[in-house]
Amino acid sequence: MRVGFFLDLNRCIGCRACEGACQNWKGPGFPLRRVQAFAGRVKGRWQEYYLSLACNHCENPECFRVCPARAYNKRRDGIVLHNSGRCSGCNRCVRACPFGAPRYNLTIGKVEKCDLCVERIDNGLPPACVEACPVKALQVLQLDEGKELGERWVPGLADVNITRPTLRLKAPEEEERFFLVG
Ligand code: SF4
Ligand code: SF4
Repeated sequence: MRVGFFLDLNRCIGCRACEGACQNWKGPGFPLRRVQAFAGRVKGRWQEYYLSLACNHCENPECFRVCPARAYNKRRDGIVLHNSGRCSGCNRCVRACPFGAPRYNLTIGKVEKCDLCVERIDNGLPPACVEACPVKALQVLQLDEGKELGERWVPGLADVNITRPTLRLKAPEEEERFFLVG
């Protein structure tokens, strides 16, 4: 069974709890998940929303393709892993990923990337970001072949046709929105 992230754009309030949880779980440095505000025309209506993005564990990962050190691999469940032990820090994957997921860590001279908290997944736990989301906007999906689970693209997301992310999105609908008050 393949897995991927799901983000409900009606629910995300941009609180960045997912970013903080990622940083706490993965250790000091920068978070491997980032939350940014976007606006765009979705299904004919102008909408404002937050995109919480990390690695999309793509079906055709460019990071994997361009790495000369073979530091990337893809598990049977679709999770794309980066082995820092093999990484030479050449940054090819950083330049190749359309979503800015691999990030160069100056302190260690190597790239780091979201691994969907694989050590938690393998123990039946959700990723730290998913667990921390107070409104359950961020989830992990089981992706079944041929079953439509949500939108693949909204304005603000890079072109999905090259790498085919496993990320799925629930598009914003005016009447369903959550807002952070105060
Ligand atoms: S989002 Fe970027 S780093 Fe993640 S699998 Fe896709 S191409 Fe690779
Ligand atoms: S930074 Fe390292 S892992 Fe990433 S593409 Fe370059 S050699 Fe491969």
